[in-house]
Amino acid sequence: MHIHLDKPSLASCPQCKEKKLMHTVCKACGYYKNREVVDVLKDKKSASDKEKQEEEKKKPLTAESLSKKDK
Ligand SMILES: [Zn+2]
Repeated sequence: MHIHLDKPSLASCPQCKEKKLMHTVCKACGYYKNREVVDVLKDKKSASDKEKQEEEKKKPLTAESLSKKDK
């Protein structure tokens, strides 16, 4: 018996046992490879927030520092 496998491979989510595509985040609970990918995204977001803050620190936007830089 020949079964044509033209549909994407499915796996059961280890977290909620929901059928999900392999190599993808489980849409039911947000887990991927026993890790909560939602949590990772949260980390990324806070990291970019930090970057923004750092950038603002680096930029001397006050009139005082600008006049200092002016020859
Ligand atoms: Zn799941």
